[in-house]
Formats: sequence, C-alpha cells, structure tokens
Amino acid sequence: TKFSELGLIEPIQRALAAKGYDIPTPIQSQAIPPLLEGRDLCGIAQTGTGKTAAFALPSLNYLHDNLKHTPPQGCRMLILSPTRELASQIAESFVQYGKFLRLSVATVFGGVPINRQIRQLSRGVDILVATPGRLLDLIDQRALNLKFVEIFVLDEADQMLDLGFIHALKRIDQLLPKKRQSLFFSATMPKAIAELGDRFLTNPVKVSV
Ligand code: AMP
Repeated sequence: TKFSELGLIEPIQRALAAKGYDIPTPIQSQAIPPLLEGRDLCGIAQTGTGKTAAFALPSLNYLHDNLKHTPPQGCRMLILSPTRELASQIAESFVQYGKFLRLSVATVFGGVPINRQIRQLSRGVDILVATPGRLLDLIDQRALNLKFVEIFVLDEADQMLDLGFIHALKRIDQLLPKKRQSLFFSATMPKAIAELGDRFLTNPVKVSV
C-alpha cells in the first residue's frame, strides 16, 4: 500500500509528500484504517516503527473533518507520554503532519514553570501532549478540563508503569469522558499492562509489529 490509498485527506497527504514519505510502515498500514473508522486500538510497538504517525495521521484527519471550536481550558485530543523528551517529539510530529491544517498543538510537562502552560491552555487547544503528573497539577489548578476529550492516547504504557504513574493514570481515566476513542501503546504487554489497557479500551483492534 501507499499512503495515497489509505483515504487520508489531501492536506495530510501533502504534508507526508513534503516529508518524502510514500509507503506506510507495517503499524501504519494496520492501524490507520480501523482508526479512521473510529475504533479503539491496542498496539504492541516500539519507538522507531512509525508508531507516532500511526496515531497522529488518523487523529488529525478526524479533528479536521469534524472541526469544532475547542472551549477554554479544553482539548479535543489528549496524548499521554512518560517523558518530556518523548512528549516534545510527539508534539513536533503533530505540527509537521498537520502543517497544512489549522489545528493547535500544545505540550505540557513537569520541571518547568507552570504559569506559561496555564496561559497556553486558557483558550483551549486542539491537541495536547502531556506527562501525567503535570497534567494532574494543571487539572487541580483548574487550568484544564478533560471533559471535551474526543481522542485519548496512552503511549509507552510499560514505561509509564516503570516510572510509577499508575495512580496518576487511574485518576486521569476517571476524569475522561466515557464516549471517546482510545489508543493504547506499549513495547511489551505483560499481564499488568494488558489490565491497564482494559481499563481504557472498548473492543480494541489489536496490532503487533
Ligand atoms: P516513530 O516510531 O514514530 O518514533 O518514528 C520513527 C521514525 O520514522 C521517525 O523519524 C519518523 O519521522 C519516521 N517515519 C515514520 N513513518 C514513516 C514512513 N512511512 N516512511 C518513512 N519514514 C517514516
């Protein structure tokens, strides 16, 4: 398959062409069609497989096709990442793949002053990439409300557990709307991770690369 056969909107195909991407990687060709249909997804995939585009492309496609005004302190898509480095990389990918769309992207993580992040969120953002601890701080400060989330991504679930984010993830799960699309990625899927996935996912498509 080629990207042009996956049914992505033209401005996304143009951004892929600008990057010189022609052929989807295996996780992209397996994940993009069900994600475009709105299915939940459980993926076993490492970094380097093209995982980021696998979830970014269909999400950007949906957000643009179903354009909505994001309310103050709201976001339409939430991506959780275990580390600030990964969060920044994911946000940069969304900016690149979405460069011909008018969707806003923000990144929030700990270890830096919170005030700028509070200001960034005040008008609402379309796509928010966050680490779990700082996300909860922002919610506790009333700078962010998760009730408008339509797409939720939990990336690198195994690292999340290793870093001790389990309690934070359970709290975030309770704050998310029940009606949403959820995506869950991990490099490995031992029982504890699969059980965490069950909490977030409804009848997911399973993809392993
Ligand atoms: P990721 O696994 O998301 O970290 O992506 C790994 C690297 O592969 C990144 O540098 C991407 O920009 C690149 N990449 C992703 N998808 C493709 C593709 N279909 N063709 C060529 N490179 C890609």
